[in-house]
Amino acid sequence: MDGPSGSGKSSASRGVARALGLRYLDTGAMYRAITWWMLRQGVDLGDPSAIAARSGEPALSSGTDPDNPTIHVDGVDVAGPIRSQEVTGAVSLVAAVPEVRARLVSLQREIIGSGDIVVEGRDIGSAVAPSAEVKVYLTASAEARAARRTAELSGTTVEAQQAAMARRDTLDSTRTTSPLSMADGAIELDTTSLNLEEVIHAVLSLVKERAH
Ligand code: C5P
Repeated sequence: MDGPSGSGKSSASRGVARALGLRYLDTGAMYRAITWWMLRQGVDLGDPSAIAARSGEPALSSGTDPDNPTIHVDGVDVAGPIRSQEVTGAVSLVAAVPEVRARLVSLQREIIGSGDIVVEGRDIGSAVAPSAEVKVYLTASAEARAARRTAELSGTTVEAQQAAMARRDTLDSTRTTSPLSMADGAIELDTTSLNLEEVIHAVLSLVKERAH
């Protein structure tokens, strides 16, 4: 399941995994976790070679239970801090560094390799798991995505969220290594006017149709 922020990926992916009794992996949380660590270490995020040089250091571990997704860095539970504005504002810089991507993609493939799973991100269908049985690309209007994100956060406005998301989407879509894009064979699902149950239902129908 790929798509930009606010397209409804996380809730839909977890719902689909639950409905099918599958594991679930949030790859965005991994990019956020390594960003959290870089910030804590005082790495200059304006310098891709500084990020690359440290990218192998932190130990990352992701839990795959859709009812309780966990993420640890060097044994520290970072599920809360990785959602901070500081990390959200910096993550696209770290995710654009090829050495970071190579390391995380290899961890992701290890997890994917041990059995059926629902994986959400930006490059899952295009780069991480191009042979996935079902590839879904979720979209929604910029207004709907900003409104959803604003409802999840406090102390922000739809306008501020729309600007922040546009900035992150541009960085994620224009980077050189594995930019956000719709994979070959992916099915696009516009969630603008759908509620969560409807999105989950639509994805489950695709799975029924496509997976053997
Ligand atoms: O999905 P989420 O908003 O948590 O992702 C955070 C950031 O991680 C994205 O904006 C993107 O920069 C990066 N990311 C990525 N590739 C993925 C998942 C996330 O580059 N597969």
